Amino acid sequence: MLDIAQLSALLSQPKKIVITTHHKPDGDALGSSLGLYNYLVQRGHHAKVITPTDYPAFLEWMPGNEEVIIYTQHVEQSNQLIADAEIIFCLDFNALSRINEMGEEVGKASAVRVMIDHHLEPQDFDDYRYWNINACATAQLVYDFIAKELNDKDLVNKDVATCLYTGIMTDSGSFRLPNTTSAVHRTIADLIDAGAVNWRIHELVYNSATENRLRFLGYCLSQKLEVLYEYNTAIIAVTNAELNQYDSATGDTEGIVNYALSISGIKLAAFIVERKDKVKLSLRSKGEFPANEICKKYFNGGGHRNAAGGQSDDTLDAVVTQFKQLLPDYKSLLTL
Ligand code: 5GP
Ligand code: MN
Repeated sequence: MLDIAQLSALLSQPKKIVITTHHKPDGDALGSSLGLYNYLVQRGHHAKVITPTDYPAFLEWMPGNEEVIIYTQHVEQSNQLIADAEIIFCLDFNALSRINEMGEEVGKASAVRVMIDHHLEPQDFDDYRYWNINACATAQLVYDFIAKELNDKDLVNKDVATCLYTGIMTDSGSFRLPNTTSAVHRTIADLIDAGAVNWRIHELVYNSATENRLRFLGYCLSQKLEVLYEYNTAIIAVTNAELNQYDSATGDTEGIVNYALSISGIKLAAFIVERKDKVKLSLRSKGEFPANEICKKYFNGGGHRNAAGGQSDDTLDAVVTQFKQLLPDYKSLLTL
């Protein structure tokens, strides 16, 4: 393991750097990556953001987005960049399986691997770790890394601030989840002072739906929502055919699970969706209920206590049945 002085020394000369983040990047994954990117290029580094997969259109406006390389669309070029890199920043994930096929390349690369993350139970693949599970977002950690560890707060310009604001905004549920501390609000104030236009960022991320997306949401809520009051649990399960019916694009299902959780008294919400090759679960919970435990134990996944995900190779119906059959075991926690 390196210490900050050694990493700081490495960064004092221009380096070839790759920044990567988890597959299907969300606002924090991409915001923290592009925030760091916009900082590193100011310091003269040759930096590239490589995402394992594509990401939703509502994130495509961030400064530096046009420079992002999507791994699945440029495999050879990406592999070369990874092999040539002197430093690889791994942001918003802590297990190489979260970056799909890229994991193998990053694992065998000769670069120094830097993990900046806030997920539980990191795997040992890194050489420097800036990790805090209490951080509301990786973007908050990137801000602290730049401003406090590297003493470069003056390099947090409008572009850096805009990306980091986006990451914190999306991962904190627009500053309303329990991890939104006063320190987070202080960081946000700094980012606005540095040029982030807060109202505009909210507008770009949250008011950018297509008509199809809204109609799909309406369909989920009116036709697919199942509420199990006995277990204070709500489930929305959709088939691949239903996704196709609404021309669902990457990101269109994002956030639907929160509507199920918004029912008064509901403690656990599940959005279960049949993708082309597997069934994906998104769980959200309120309070102490450990959504990540269910994902980890039964669905080959994990995450945070109140927001977790997993997957299964079973059919959609089988996964829904399995999920429902787990609920009696958690009844006491769900009906506290
Ligand atoms: P989402 O429901 O938005 O896909 O994921 C919510 C959270 O659960 C993410 O922030 C991520 O931390 C976690 N998560 C989602 N899918 C997986 C998975 O397959 N494995 C692990 N370890 N965590 C996941
Ligand atoms: Mn995050």
